[in-house]
This record gives sequence, C-alpha cells and structure tokens, in this order.
Amino acid sequence: MTDFSKTREFFDLPKGVIYLDGNSLGPLPRNAVDRMRHVMEREWGAQLIRAWNQSDWITLPARVGARIGRLIGAPKDSVTTGDTLTIKVYQALAAALPLRPDRRKIVSDNGNFPTDLYMAEGLIRTLGRDHELVIAEPEAVADAIDEETAAVLLTHVDYRTGQMHDMEAVTRRAHAAGALMIWDLAHSAGAVPVDLSGCGADFAVGCTYKYLNGGPGGPAFIYVKPTLQETVEPALSGWMGHAKPFAFDLEYRAAQGIERMRVGTPPILQLSALDAALDIWDEVEIDDLRRRSVELCERFIAGVEAACPQLELASPRNAAERGSQISFRFSKGYAAMQALIDRGVIGDFRVPDIMRFGFAPLYVTPEDVDKAIGILDMVINQRVYQEARYQTRLAVT
Ligand SMILES: *Cc1c(COP(=O)(O)O)cnc(C)c1O
Repeated sequence: MTDFSKTREFFDLPKGVIYLDGNSLGPLPRNAVDRMRHVMEREWGAQLIRAWNQSDWITLPARVGARIGRLIGAPKDSVTTGDTLTIKVYQALAAALPLRPDRRKIVSDNGNFPTDLYMAEGLIRTLGRDHELVIAEPEAVADAIDEETAAVLLTHVDYRTGQMHDMEAVTRRAHAAGALMIWDLAHSAGAVPVDLSGCGADFAVGCTYKYLNGGPGGPAFIYVKPTLQETVEPALSGWMGHAKPFAFDLEYRAAQGIERMRVGTPPILQLSALDAALDIWDEVEIDDLRRRSVELCERFIAGVEAACPQLELASPRNAAERGSQISFRFSKGYAAMQALIDRGVIGDFRVPDIMRFGFAPLYVTPEDVDKAIGILDMVINQRVYQEARYQTRLAVT
C-alpha cells in the first residue's frame, strides 16, 4: 500500500498553498535541491569534463528513461530522454511516416495540444510529399482512421477537459487499418496507469515537468516499440544518436536501439533534478495512485457542484474516461482563477472559459480538496472575481 502522507513529505510546498496545478508544473521535490547542489559542486565543479565518465553522465538519459519506462509499461531499453516534448513529437512522427511510404494521412484530434499539431504541420511542409493532417473530433477519431492513414498521433489525456482516450481500443483500430500509433503521454505519465507493451503502441512521447515533477523545461521522453527500434531512421540524426559518437565519423550511422533517438548533448542539470524527482515512484503503486486520484476528483466534483451550480463540469463525469484533472466552464473563469490563486488555491485557466484543477495524489489531500471547494464557493458566490485587479490577463494563464 502506498502511504500518501509520506509522499507529500517528499515535496517542498509553500505554506498556505493548495497546489492544484501539478498537471502544468509539478512542485519542487526536496531531494532535487540536494541533488542539484551535488551535481553542480561535486560533479561539474570538481570533476569538470571527467564527470561524463566518472559520474556516468553519458548514460544518464537512458537510466532516467528506464525509470520512466517502468511507469508507462515500457520494456527495458525502450525509453530515452532529452530535448523537449515538442521536439520528441516531431521525432516520433518523422520516424513513423517513412514506415508507411504509400500512405499520406496523419490522424489527430482537436483535443490535442496545439504544439503537437503545429509540429505535424511543420514536418509535412519539410517532407513536401503531400501528407495531410486530419483533425477529427475526439469521439470520432477511430472512424477517421482508414487504409490511407500512415500514423495516428493523439494525446492520451486532453489537456483542457481531462478526457481520456481508450489507449488499447484506439491502438487496435490504428493497427487494424495498418497505421502506426503514436501516443503523447504528457498528462498520463505519473497520473494514470499506462501499459505501452500491453496495448502495442508503436511510439510514445511525454514531458517530465508535469506529474513527474522534473522541474521547468525538464527533458522529455520517447518510447519506441522494441520491434521497430532497429528499423526507424532518425530524422534528427544528431551525434549523440550515432553508433559511435566519439569516432567522429563524417557519415551518420544510427546507434543500436532506442539510443538512436538521442540527439545532442543531454541537459545534465535538468536530468539530475528529474532523476531525483523519480525517487518517489519507488514508494508508489500506480493502482493506489489511480484510486486516490479518482477519490480526490470525485470529491471535488461533488463539492463544487453543490456549492457553485454556476460552474459547468467540462470533464467526463465517468471517472474511467478522464485523467487526473477536473475542469469547469465559467464565463468569468480567468478572473475567478486569479482570485483563487490570490487565496492560495493554485489552478490555471485555458481559453475560452476553462478553470482547470489538477489532482496529484502524491501531495494533494482530501482536506486540500475540501478547503479548495470552500474558497471557490466564496470566490464565486460572493462574486470576488468581479474585482478589477483580477481582470487583467497575464502572459501565462
Ligand atoms: C505540456 C504539453 C506539451 C508541451 O511541450 P513542450 O515542448 O514541453 O513545451 C506538448 N504536448 C502536450 C500534449 C502537452 O500536454
């Protein structure tokens, strides 16, 4: 059994804050501070360039990838880390399309995070081979997949509403049509159980600064199904993905396996913070995490609907169909969220009218949920959100 009173101690949360935005930026793990100090002073500071060997920096992307792999049902040696998720989306799609050279369709949905769609558009332009990006409604994705589809690119959990695709069913549909399946796990890794092996996904990508608490701008991860690893041709053929980076050959030769999805020099400081953040998962059973997440979310929905009928639930009512966040629509959602943040309840806002609350069981408690509901009740029913100071939009919402 996972002890959630212990997992909360892992984080250094400011006093008086109820943090419901770990789906956007996870909080600071206490041990990440010590680890960063160690890496900066004892490794970078004292060992200098020798640290690549002496502190084994060179294999850190794979070691961190293996730890993430265990959380998403990926077999050994099938996940590596580096770059940002935006880059990893491009890399996965660019690896998938040449495997279906006679097909021209890429299927996604309008619940996808825009950067994923932008990168698909950019890749299509670069390839110049008349690929077409088909953007379906989330419910209609399965029907949009056909014999012309080369790849299906979907985010498992919708960033706005928390709506979750049935990973197994959609993957099966893609494969039945002969298409490759790419999952973006940005809002899934560390939030919900994922079984990449079980569902047979071909590629998966995700970021590490949300539910994995790796810190702002932390490196992303990429998974390639073992049977495809020796077949994919990296489009971003960087020296760190070369079979022999230190041979300095003039010609590119892809490294074995998942290593070929590395690009350039890994961000050692960020990877170290992430590696420290991942320690907590040694104490967590993912099924316990899911159970607790559902409890927190159900409690929040019931409380908010009882107190604030003005807010409309934007997330699926059925817990099995959503991730670890709850969203409500409210026409004055931006101002209401600013008023909440001012009172220590930190969530966020997504256009046009979505108030978003993430429930990360590692540090959010049922008492936090009750307090957040009480403050939301006050902000909405006493119309605190009408105050002039909450009306100005900041650059990051
Ligand atoms: C958060 C998120 C991103 C962000 O990508 P970055 O490169 O880390 O900025 C991309 N895609 C999805 C689905 C996300 O949720």
